[in-house]
Amino acid sequence: MGLKKGDEYLKSIKSLGLKAHVLGEKAENLPEHGLVEPAQKAVAFTYDAAQDKETRDLFCVESALCKDVVNRFSHLHQSTDDLVNKVKMQRYCGIQTGCCFQRCVGLDAANAIFSTTYECDQKHATDYHERFKDYWRWIQQDDLVVDGAMTDPKGDRSKRPIEQSDPDLFLRIKEQRPDGIIISGAKLHQTGMLNSHEILIMPTLTMRPGEEPWAVCCAVPTNARGIHYIYGRQSSDTRKLETYHLDVGNPVYGGQEVMTVFDDVYVPNERVFMNGEVDFSGVLVERFASYHRQSYGGCKTEVGDVLIGATALIAKMNGVDKASHINDKIVEMIHLNETIYACGIACSTTGEQTSAGNFQVNMLLANVCKLNVTRFPYELARLATDVAGGLLGTMPAAAELEDPLAGKYIQKYLSANTQYKTVDRMKVLRLIENLVVGAGAVGYLIESMHGAGPPAAQRIMIRRQAQIEEKIDQVKAFLSIK
Ligand code: SF4
Ligand code: FE
Repeated sequence: MGLKKGDEYLKSIKSLGLKAHVLGEKAENLPEHGLVEPAQKAVAFTYDAAQDKETRDLFCVESALCKDVVNRFSHLHQSTDDLVNKVKMQRYCGIQTGCCFQRCVGLDAANAIFSTTYECDQKHATDYHERFKDYWRWIQQDDLVVDGAMTDPKGDRSKRPIEQSDPDLFLRIKEQRPDGIIISGAKLHQTGMLNSHEILIMPTLTMRPGEEPWAVCCAVPTNARGIHYIYGRQSSDTRKLETYHLDVGNPVYGGQEVMTVFDDVYVPNERVFMNGEVDFSGVLVERFASYHRQSYGGCKTEVGDVLIGATALIAKMNGVDKASHINDKIVEMIHLNETIYACGIACSTTGEQTSAGNFQVNMLLANVCKLNVTRFPYELARLATDVAGGLLGTMPAAAELEDPLAGKYIQKYLSANTQYKTVDRMKVLRLIENLVVGAGAVGYLIESMHGAGPPAAQRIMIRRQAQIEEKIDQVKAFLSIK
């Protein structure tokens, strides 16, 4: 099949005929729905970038699995250079789209499943690794988008999956059949689900003996029978449906979130990559989470780039760009943003080869990266709000520009540095608003906190990876303490 172009990808998604519950209605033609279209365009960008002669060297790579040139978004990393290039590619995508481009989750899931299935087969004499290789070869050759689905609803957080009032609160195997399994449950916070061809399902936490039905990893098509999609609401989301696009902030692209329900979905054996091996559930969760925490070192810094650029521009438009305290704030934003990126690069360059042959990020540094992401974008948003000024929250609607009276007054009283048009100043303010309190803030702030796991999850991993006992022993030796 080879590499698809953006419009070929869009056609292929349309042909799946996905339906979703959107704002209380059953939407059938999703690719043309005003809410869905901007998010789909963001994924299409990852295809077009692989065709663009300026960027194809970064986006295209030879696959060790199928030997063809594939999109890096489906690549199994063969070196630390591959890990670094992944982060660079993510940063590039983000500065172009200003939102989540969704394709990294499947990439991160694939790399984690590739190494975990190999080790599981060694121990349990299963054949998941070969199954997965066959599956992923097809994904690479057909240049498909895969949604990695990990987060279960989790119900009462004080209870294990087996103790919940409803066993479906953690996605589970409901029935074993000779030729496959039936799964039941839901996955929340699925950004790219409606823009994907396939779903890779993973357990949400380390399962224990007795919790075998919840230790499941498998793949299903997004249009499989029994799957239902319920669209998430985001602040200011319906601005995307209005005539005056200026008020959206991000003119072309945008994010979305979807609750996905698996109501007795059949999965054939060849698409099952874990079926009750509880001892590998935690390995898979930790590896996937670490890859995705590395991903944030690229994708969140790029949205930071957009916010920094917009903040520096609005400072010029407001006529305050020469003020030293404004410059200090912009430098602070850059410092915080590049600190995140540095962690994304560092956990990539210090990654290591797995026994399956692909490369895994340095888990300690990937978790440090993501822990910074749970804080720094909030500080960037605070500084951008400070520099932009109060108009960020009080500016009239773009539609008023059409009114002879209101339009005249807006042009007159929202004019600042006369080198810039009032309407352009409004565009920049709406972009900043989008990222700090509007629909874009879901991807930039809420997702920075909770995506790839909340800060508490990173703290646990940091504690586990930091080899504290070794440090204690070193100090004891240094001080000659027995
Ligand atoms: Fe990729 Fe970032 Fe979106 Fe995750 S949140 S899919 S890493 S762009
Ligand atoms: Fe995410």
